[in-house]
Amino acid sequence: MRLILLGAPGAGKGTVAKMLTAIDGSVQISTGDILRAAVKAGTELGKKAEAAMKAGELVSDDLIMGIMGERLKEDDCQAGFLLDGFPRTIPQAEALKGLLEKMGIELQGAVNLNVPREVILDRLTTRRTCVDCGAIYNVKSNPPKEEGKCDACGGSVVQRDDETKEAISKRLDVFNEQTAPLVGFYDKEGLLLDIEATSSDVVVDAIKKHVGI
Ligand code: ADP
Ligand code: ZN
Repeated sequence: MRLILLGAPGAGKGTVAKMLTAIDGSVQISTGDILRAAVKAGTELGKKAEAAMKAGELVSDDLIMGIMGERLKEDDCQAGFLLDGFPRTIPQAEALKGLLEKMGIELQGAVNLNVPREVILDRLTTRRTCVDCGAIYNVKSNPPKEEGKCDACGGSVVQRDDETKEAISKRLDVFNEQTAPLVGFYDKEGLLLDIEATSSDVVVDAIKKHVGI
């Protein structure tokens, strides 16, 4: 599959992407995961991105396009890719369009996961993430078997720095201002698939149907 996953923070992009990769071997490319790994490793990229991330603001388009230009050239993308958290602004969407055209790659769709704001807020405040593999848990609905420890890799499961109440509210504002317009962009491109995303299973089924598998 070659898809973009759109939707507010907490809409379930990461969960859905992980379910889809298991179906056909496409890779999940999460700019958030790439950036968090860079911050953790203390690389140049991490240093540049850290402050914006902590505040719930966006990292610059140039930095993101640099990362994605390289990432999409890697061999594993031949099996397909699920873009999770990218593009996030109209300039990123325009740049991605140019990049894919140059590479001769055609997208199959941009999936918009629609989730009510109350659900988003509840999910984000109860969400926990594995620092090592990025696996996502929820203290209420899907806790790890052993508290604070990832079922998949044994890494620490923690609340992200940007999942304080203040940063969450900032991320939702940023989303509404900068990312929500992408729905219109992809609608014009004839690529939009809009889904009421209350359950990940429903979303995955709709996507499978859309790409014909
Ligand atoms: P979310 O749960 O908000 O979808 P992500 O893990 O996708 O979180 O992203 C975490 C943070 O990383 C964002 O708040 C932002 O600072 C930065 N980031 C991730 N992807 C992008 C992007 N495409 N453009 C700019 N900043 C990004
Ligand atoms: Zn893990």
